[in-house]
Amino acid sequence: MIIGVPKEIKNNENRVALTPSGVVEMKKHGHEVYVQATAGLGSGFSDEEFQSAGATILPTIEDVYAIAEMIIKVKEPIEYEYDLIKEDQLLFTYFHFASYEPLTKAMIESKAVCLAYETVEKGRSLPLLVPMSEVAGRMSIQEGAKYLEKPEQGRGILLGGVPGVKPAKVLVLGGGVVGTQAAKMAAGMGADVTIMDISLDRLRYLDDVMAANVKTMMSSEYNIRQEIKTADLIVGAVLIPGAKAPHLVTRDMLKEMRPGTVLVDVAVDQGGCIETCKPTTHNEPTFIIDDVVHYCVANMPGAVPYTSTLALTNATLPYAIELANKGWKKACNENPQLKPGLNVVKGDVVYKAVAEAFDLPY
Ligand code: NAD
Repeated sequence: MIIGVPKEIKNNENRVALTPSGVVEMKKHGHEVYVQATAGLGSGFSDEEFQSAGATILPTIEDVYAIAEMIIKVKEPIEYEYDLIKEDQLLFTYFHFASYEPLTKAMIESKAVCLAYETVEKGRSLPLLVPMSEVAGRMSIQEGAKYLEKPEQGRGILLGGVPGVKPAKVLVLGGGVVGTQAAKMAAGMGADVTIMDISLDRLRYLDDVMAANVKTMMSSEYNIRQEIKTADLIVGAVLIPGAKAPHLVTRDMLKEMRPGTVLVDVAVDQGGCIETCKPTTHNEPTFIIDDVVHYCVANMPGAVPYTSTLALTNATLPYAIELANKGWKKACNENPQLKPGLNVVKGDVVYKAVAEAFDLPY
């Protein structure tokens, strides 16, 4: 199959959908790979590296869309790309259709086959979302530690303390992928960590696998109100699938916190689990309310494109190879993980939640 890898043109997006290592694997399976010039630069991969791996570099995005049978991307196509997409072309990327009607309409009109990373399913997990949650979870502590510094208007406390001085207290709300990685990082830095979830089974698991400086606690309003009084860093990491995040930390609770407390609401992309959080960007990641520092960047992995690209492509490559080897129809028929990834197929919406979001036939 002819594979095309365009350069991401969404604002501040530096990831690339295939690495030179991925090109080598695709070539081994007999596929041709065309990469747009400088597509990998933001993630640290030069055109020369792609060429040595066996890819052909094309100068423009138009060239890539024109030649490819399958386009592999990271973010959803943006308006400029809509007209470049061809009938029957297979697009394998994040789409998040339900959040943007013009994209859904444009993909229906294109008559392309749109297979979305975010709805590929493996058992009860979403394997192409997990790597980005892992990145965001680990990053939440790195960022939190930075904003706890006095020049950033934080409490001026070192996460791990030093001999003779107690470490900082970290409270993690939600013990899923993000929360687990956050707790692990905070514990590794020597903080005094508490992780809350509503699932007792999950808390039992976390209690088994975490270091001794991580305590588990049932998530409830009462417990949260108690813990926020002494927490230095609070990480919001809850998710209720298909719904907006619940506001576990409400506006009035800020007054209970100590000045300089840092809130990192990773769940901001689902509305946030801290009531006062509003999405921010890497250019201006924080704001302050009631002396409490809020960090609410909606695309945290975007700041570490090298790690994020490798983490994402580790997860996407096996699926991309299967799609290239078999074609989308056979691959989706034979692999039940890929099938739910189909969202829009040759003019028809085939994913229920997307059809319902915009009242479209399904
Ligand atoms: P997950 O499903 O693995 O974990 C969510 C956890 O929240 C589950 O364990 C669940 O039991 C728990 N939970 C639900 N209600 C709760 C409550 N009331 N109190 C405590 N825990 C509760 O999800 P995840 O992959 O960890 O993702 C968490 C959030 O992070 C999602 O909203 C996701 O979209 C977001 N995210 C954001 C970024 C970013 O850049 N900002 C990146 C990746 C993920």
